[in-house]
Formats: sequence, C-alpha cells, structure tokens
Amino acid sequence: MQELSHWIDGTNVKGSSGRFADVFNPATGEVQARVPLASKDELDMAVAKAAEAQPQWAATNPQRRARVMMEFVRLLNRDMDKLAEALSREHGKTLPDAKGDVQRGLEVVEFCIGAPHLLKGEYTDSAGPGIDMYSMRQPLGVVAGITPFNFPAMIPMWKFAPAISCGNAFILKPSERDPSVPLMLAELMQEAGLPDGILQVVNGDKEAVDAILDNRTVMGVGFVGSTPIAEYIYSRGCANGKRVQCFGGAKNHMIVMPDADMDQAADALVGAGYGAAGERCMAISVAVPVGDTTADKLVEKLVPRIENLKVGPYTAGNDVDYGPLVTAAAKERVLGLVNSGVEQGAELVVDGRDFSMQGYENGFFVGPHLFDRATRDMDIYKQEIFGPVLTQVRAQSYEEALGYAMDHEYGNGTAIFTRDGDTARDFANRINIGMVGVNVPIPVPLAYHTFGGWKKSGFGDLNQHGPDAFRFYTRTKTVTSRWPSGLKEGGEFHFKAMD
Ligand code: NAD
Repeated sequence: MQELSHWIDGTNVKGSSGRFADVFNPATGEVQARVPLASKDELDMAVAKAAEAQPQWAATNPQRRARVMMEFVRLLNRDMDKLAEALSREHGKTLPDAKGDVQRGLEVVEFCIGAPHLLKGEYTDSAGPGIDMYSMRQPLGVVAGITPFNFPAMIPMWKFAPAISCGNAFILKPSERDPSVPLMLAELMQEAGLPDGILQVVNGDKEAVDAILDNRTVMGVGFVGSTPIAEYIYSRGCANGKRVQCFGGAKNHMIVMPDADMDQAADALVGAGYGAAGERCMAISVAVPVGDTTADKLVEKLVPRIENLKVGPYTAGNDVDYGPLVTAAAKERVLGLVNSGVEQGAELVVDGRDFSMQGYENGFFVGPHLFDRATRDMDIYKQEIFGPVLTQVRAQSYEEALGYAMDHEYGNGTAIFTRDGDTARDFANRINIGMVGVNVPIPVPLAYHTFGGWKKSGFGDLNQHGPDAFRFYTRTKTVTSRWPSGLKEGGEFHFKAMD
C-alpha cells in the first residue's frame, strides 16, 4: 500500500512517529494509502527548519516573490487534470467539482501576484521639523495553516499563497483524510522557484495541531474546519500569544419570497444543496419559503429535480452530479441525523436512505433527502449535517424568515430569492451573516474580496483572502525619524505636538 510522507525542506520525508491514518477511496470504500501522523518532535523540527529559511525569503524583494506565484499559476494549469484526479480519488467529489476546487485556489494565487502593491507602506513627509514617519508591513515569521478535508486544494492555497507572498514561511497541516493534493501543491511550489523550507507540509492529527499551537516560533495560525475545533484552536492559540483566525461550520438559509422565480429558486437549491454531496461550508442546507403556497410550489418543483440527481463515482466524469461522502463515519452520522429528523416529526418528502450504488456497494454514497415542515427544535435544523440533505422550514412572513436566519448560531452564508429590490436591500442590510447572495445561492466572494462568516462560523478579526489576508499575515511597524539640520534642543521630557 502507498505510504505518504511529509514535505520538509523541499523533499519527501517519511513519518517517524509510527502512527498512521488510513486514506480511503470513498467511491469504493477501499484504503488506498496511509498517511503519517506527525509527533510533536517532527512538527517542531519542521518549524525550526522553516525559521532558518524565512529571513532570507523575507529579504527577497516582493516582486521576485510574486514571480514564484506567477509560475505556480502556470504549473497549476499545466497539472490541472492530474490534481483534480488525485483530489477526486481521495475526497470523492466529481472531476468538474475537483477542478473548481483547484481553480478557486488558483484565483487567490493570481491575486497574490499583486502582493508588492498590497505590501506598500505609508509615508508622511515632514510630520514635524526634520521628521518623517513611515509604516511598513513586515511578515510575522513562521505561520501555520490547519485545513479541512472538503477543499483540499483551495483552502491550503487560500492560506499559504498570501502568507508566503508576504515573506512568511508556512507550515501546512492538511486534513488527514485527503493529504495527497497538498503534498503535490508543495512540490509544484518548489518547481515554481520557492526556496526549500518556506512551505512545509506536516501531516497529522490533534497531536500535530497541538504542537503548532504550543510552538513559540509559530506567530500566526489560520484554521478552517468545524466549529468546536475552531473554538478550541482560537482559544488555545490566542492564549499562547499568537495571531489566530478560525473559520467554522455553517447552516446556510435560503429565503424564497412569493415573488421569486420558482424554477430558478428550485434549480439553485438543488445545485447548492446537493452539489459536492452537501460537503461545502457554503452549501444551502435550509430552504425558507415565505407562505404555504410558496412552500408547496417549491416542493413540487424540487421533488422531480432531486429524484433525477445522478449520484456516482468521479470516474463517471461529467455524468454525475455528486459523489460519495468522505468516510463511512460521515455517512453513518448523516443517516443518523436523517433518522432523528423522522423521529422528531419532520416530513421526509424524498427519502434516500435505501440508496445503494450498483458496483460500488462499499462506497460511502448517500442518496438525496428532502425534509419539509422542520422546526427550530429539531436536530436536523440545529446541526450542520454536511450531507445531501435539504431541510425546509416554513415561514409565514418575510420577518419570520429573516428571524430564522438571524437566530441561528451559524452565520457563514445566506441567500434570498426575490424579484423585489426593496426586500433584497433590506435583507442584505439587516442580516447578521458574513456572505449574502441575492438570487445567487452560493455567494462565495472572489479572490479580491474577502471570505468569512459571522457568529459561530468565524473567530478572529480578519477574513480570508483578499486584502484582509495581507493584513493578517503582516504586522505594521511605524518608524519616526529625524535628521536634524544642526539643531540642538537638549533632552525632551514630554510628548511633543508636531508643529
Ligand atoms: P474538522 O474540524 O474535523 O478538521 C479540520 C482540521 O482540524 C483538520 O486538519 C483536522 O486534522 C484538525 N482536527 C480535527 N480534530 C481536531 C482536534 N480534536 N484537535 C485539533 N485539530 C483537530 O473539519 P473537517 O471535517 O475536515 O471539515 C468540515 C468542516 O469544515 C465543516 O464544519 C465545514 O463547514 C467547515 N468548513 C468551513 C469553511 C469556512 O470557511 N467557514 C470552509 C470549509 C469547511
């Protein structure tokens, strides 16, 4: 069986802890590789090597650093098919979706080519007599990223591309479920001209994460994953004096107003609810039609669309809408939540529990489900399901629908479908959620804006990618300098106004 490695100092390094995790092919259920789980010593060694390499990288001019990103973009495009295949094989998502995963990361790398502009400081000439003042953005040093299984290309790139463009060295701890693509990305960064030691991939689990959080050389930590782990990493990282940003789980509501185009709304819900088997932090998992007539119409439109969804392995190419879940445990959890929905009284309009994929009986496939008439107290409404399950709650007014989204503990994304500009504007202004779509079901901001949720979906002050990433991965130093022209004033004992 294939044994994966770490990527340290520009080369594959075998794990030495003696601990491994199985990496599955979710379509067949077979173990296809094992990934080493780093010990604290292995993690600390990777950090120490990164710290040795970082000062020279920070001293490399920003334009030269940006050229590495430029070449990296070319290599990503060259190897797109290879990356997508490796990604689908370990994650299970369809090939077109895997390419989208790489593409959305690549777009952030493209944005990072403009890093020299974003790293420019500020300057005040003659702030006082003979006094100039300037601020510069300096890298933090060694920083780390801990990433989830569901976007094994995009999220690592969202983290390491801005961090490295700013002159930091980066420790990537990817998900142990699909670690191959992050390793391939590190190899491509080396081919693009990145000096060894600036991007280290350390595979592992909680032990490696804790070692990152406790390592005094690591100055900043970015995390993406589930909310309980986000909260844990945020508090432990902050307690250890690090700069930390953590992005957590989601329960994204889509409000459907009576004046919405129902076909458009149903198409949007099917794509956003079941795409990638619902394993997206921006998936729509709750539909909130306003009024029973709207709700009935929506169900009528949704059912045939859901029943026609094609579920299958990525090897079927463009012929599948979504693939398996990532692990057997994920499948069991999702089906457990579906059963809880039935027991707690929601109406299961489309029941995918008996779904079995011919020829792939051991794969982690789950058929699509649709619940109607769910209520706030049900687990299927309260919890992030992260599977192909769409839950409809009925609201009798716009205010009630707005209240559903606002009162939920998560605040990652949301959408409203309406033809009325006034309602759409009111919704965008009042909603307490970080990313909002108006007739757009998955409002993932592009690379030059920023990405981040509110409430229990995001911890920390700054968002991911866009200009915020450059703020997160740098710190400001302000210099006040005076070059006296023969002036001798003697000592000063109080703050002086600049006159
Ligand atoms: P996860 O929280 O299980 O794992 C994320 C990372 O944390 C992995 O690298 C994992 O090894 C590590 N980890 C897991 N348990 C840990 C522990 N006890 N201590 C320390 N580290 C630990 O999440 P996942 O299942 O890989 O990803 C799915 C979750 O990520 C969903 O909740 C989804 O909504 C969320 N997500 C959020 C965003 C966002 O931007 N808000 C984007 C993608 C995914």
